[in-house]
Parts: sequence; C-alpha cells; structure tokens
Amino acid sequence: MKRQYSKRQYKDGQRRCCDVVVIGSGPAGMAAAVSAADAGASVCMIEREEKMGGILKQCIHDGFGLIRFEEKLTGPEYSWRYQQMVNERDIDFLNLTFLTKIERSGKGFSLEFVNPAEAVISIEAASVVMAMGCRERTDRQIFLHGQRPAGIFTAGQAQDFINLKGFMPGKRPVILGSGDIGLIMARRFTLEGASVRGVYEIASLPSGLTRNVVQCLEDFDIPLHLNTTVTEVHGRDRVEAVTVCRVDENRHPLQDTARRIDCDCLILSVGLIPENDILIPLGIELDPVTRGPVVDQFMHSSCPGIFSCGNALHVSDLVDYVSESGHAAGKAAAEWTKSDLVGSRKLRLSAGGIIQYIVPQSITEAEHEDSALPVYFRPSVPADRAEFLLKQSGRILYKKRFSYLKPSEMQRLEIDFARIDPEGEMPVVELTALGMEADDE
Ligand SMILES: Cc1cc2nc3c(=O)[nH]c(=O)nc-3n(C[C@H](O)[C@H](O)[C@H](O)COP(=O)(O)OP(=O)(O)OC[C@H]3O[C@@H](n4cnc5c(N)ncnc54)[C@H](O)[C@@H]3O)c2cc1C
Repeated sequence: MKRQYSKRQYKDGQRRCCDVVVIGSGPAGMAAAVSAADAGASVCMIEREEKMGGILKQCIHDGFGLIRFEEKLTGPEYSWRYQQMVNERDIDFLNLTFLTKIERSGKGFSLEFVNPAEAVISIEAASVVMAMGCRERTDRQIFLHGQRPAGIFTAGQAQDFINLKGFMPGKRPVILGSGDIGLIMARRFTLEGASVRGVYEIASLPSGLTRNVVQCLEDFDIPLHLNTTVTEVHGRDRVEAVTVCRVDENRHPLQDTARRIDCDCLILSVGLIPENDILIPLGIELDPVTRGPVVDQFMHSSCPGIFSCGNALHVSDLVDYVSESGHAAGKAAAEWTKSDLVGSRKLRLSAGGIIQYIVPQSITEAEHEDSALPVYFRPSVPADRAEFLLKQSGRILYKKRFSYLKPSEMQRLEIDFARIDPEGEMPVVELTALGMEADDE
C-alpha cells in the first residue's frame, strides 16, 4: 500500500484544500486521478477501503484490459497497472476515509469525510470527480417472500467471501439473475467444488454478456432457466430450499409451475445501482434510466464543477470503458480549475427509437483537441439489424449500422462533435431496428 493517510497537507488557514478531489479509487477513480494530475492539478483521491482498486480487487478471473492494454488481465493485475500510475504521480491518497457530505462553498466545494485517525476531515476543492461505483440490489429490493434465514447473499458479497476472505457461503447455491456477476459466481462456486443448482432468470434473455453465458455456464454444464424466478425462500435459521416458478409475458409467476429446489444458499445477481445519493442535496440532474448524473462530453454534470465517471455514471460491462470515462472526467475537472474551459452552452441530445440510454446526454460548445469523442449507448430491446443516426436540423451527421444489438451489451461509438452546429437545433440520436427486408450498406 502506498501510505496510510494523507502525505501532504494542503493548507489554506486551517483547512485542507486541493484543485481536484476524486471520490473512489476503483478503475474510474484511479484513471481520473492520473489524468487530473497529468493536466497539472493538485489531486487528492479518497477511498473508504484500505486499498485502491475498487471491485477489481475481488475479480480474480481474467478478461480485463483487452482494449486498454491489449492483454487478458485479472482484475487485480489491471488494478495494479493503474496503482503504479497513481504512485508515480504526486497524488495524495486518503484510504479508510468515507465521504459523508458535499456542499458548495466559496472556492468550489466543501467536502466532509470520516476516518479512524482524524475522525472528521474537511477538504475544500475547486472540482470533484465522483467515481463511487455502484451497489448491488438486495433481496429487500426484489420483494422476496418467506423467512429471512442466513444464506442469502448478493453475488458481489459471495465473491468477496470466496476470493478475498477464503469462506464458502454454501455448497449448493441457487443463483437468481443472470447478470455478469451471477454468471461469474456460478463458475467460481463450481471451481471451488460446489454444485450449482441452477441460474434462474425472470427475463427471456440472459442479462449478462454472451461470452460469460458460454464461458461460465455452458462450459460447466450449469443450467440456465429463462422466464423463471424465485418466489419463496424456505428455512428457519439457514436457507434450505427455494420455490421457483415460470413467469408469464408480464413476469407474473405461474403458480401451477411452482417447484421446490433444495439448496443451502441463494445468490442474487439482480442489478446494480449507481452510487449517487450523496449528490441529491446539490440538486444535480440524474438520468432516470442510468441513475447516474446527466453529463456532457467532458463527464461534467449539471452542477458546475462536479464530474462523474465509471459505474457511478452508468453501469459498464467492460472496465476499459470505465477507465476511459475516468480519464475524460479527471482531465476536464483539472481544466475546470484553471478556467471555464469546459465551455458554456449545452445542447441536449434528444434520443429516440429503441435507444434505452445514451451517455453523454448533452454536448457543450467548446474547443476540442480531438473532436471525435466516445459515446456509449444500450438498446432497449434486442435487434437483429439496427441503424444509429445522429441528426441536426434534418441533416445526417453520423450513421452506423449494427448486425446485432442487445440490451446486455453496451455499445461505444466515436462521434465527431465538431460537426454539431452549436447554434443549431437540438441534435437527435435515433436507433432504429431494421426489418429483414432493409438493404445492407
Ligand atoms: C463480479 C464482477 C465481475 C466483473 N467482470 C469484468 C470482466 O470480466 N471484465 C471487465 O472488463 N469488467 C468486469 N467487471 C466490471 C468492472 O470491474 C467494473 O465495471 C469496475 O470495477 C467499475 O469501476 P468503478 O471505479 O466505477 O467502481 P468500483 O470498482 O466499484 O470502485 C468504486 C470505489 O469507490 C469507493 N467508494 C464508494 N463510496 C465511497 C465513499 N462514500 N467514500 C469513499 N469511497 C467510496 C469504493 O470503496 C470503491 O473502491 C466486473 C464487475 C464485477 C462486479
């Protein structure tokens, strides 16, 4: 570990201050801290846990970094590369430190933290990068009926127990939800000698990446039951069984299909919620679909000086894109401290067709070194063939066709924002499912 607490005291009277505070030291936070420091800012990165790395620390499987490092790394290996970059720069790292409050102040923002050495710490910063990741949905949030016996875990908790703490949460798990973490944990349990009773998914398609369905379930003969959910948990002190039911097209359980599956634990992989509650008092605009802040191409939110990246902005499938958004947010947060370089007029993108969401949601009029910037989106439904269009005032500025799209796989495009006329009408992005009769380009 680099150091226990703050190396440097940024003093302004009795207050600590710095240009950019980064909250969270997962892949998004580390990338943001590195790029803010490279852009000349004094940077302080805050982490509630002991070590940097965020979720990557517990992801001991490989598959990380194929885009950024062109190598198949494990989570800790990917994290290590970024920790080295942080350590090579003059970045102040405060670990075991938890953000409790953020308010506007004369110089930008006043942030309050707690840590075991100093109790309450305040830091003044000109800009803040929020990189707090996301939390997992729990059994309370999906209204599971039955007792509350021991043995119900989220997939991330089970991963932490097995990979970092060396405990097996059970030997005969049932997994509810086919998100990537659930699929990865089905394989992990199997490799550790458990017998996975099955993965149950309420939707008609798996919600994780196809590569994870193949590599984590099919390669290990673990059954995936689509259109099926867990309706009841049995057991007084410890999980003994669950009831599963098939569901109709409205996802209502069909009681006559109910069957009891004996198991000793229930693992939930039923969704992730970006961590942004602390921003609500600032009146920041959140996207109702992503549940992250509405941002422009600089990852700048509706609250001037607050930037967002990584899973706190929107849940990404690939860590490479998490780091990419961190780099963009950190650089822009550093520029913001020097001037209003990040621009002034924001043009909102209007999204139509089968787009579930798009990030960024708005474009700021500004000079770019490189005007081709990344855009991330997901479709709301699967589509065999689809067309993405960016239009303004009736003109097509960008067009791309896809042979297959599905909601579980986020798409990334590079769009030349210089083509957008800042004085023009609201730009429109449209994703259209093409019928089989449509011609290929
Ligand atoms: C099980 C699993 C498997 C995955 N597999 C892959 C894969 O194979 N390939 C791939 O590319 N990607 C994979 N991912 C995705 C990738 O790991 C995540 O997208 C990435 O870790 C998100 O990075 P982040 O920095 O946004 O958030 P996180 O990694 O969650 O980091 C957020 C950090 O913020 C800190 N924090 C939160 N709140 C506070 C607070 N109030 N005060 C101080 N600190 C705080 C947290 O402690 C944490 O360290 C996987 C993810 C999971 C969960």
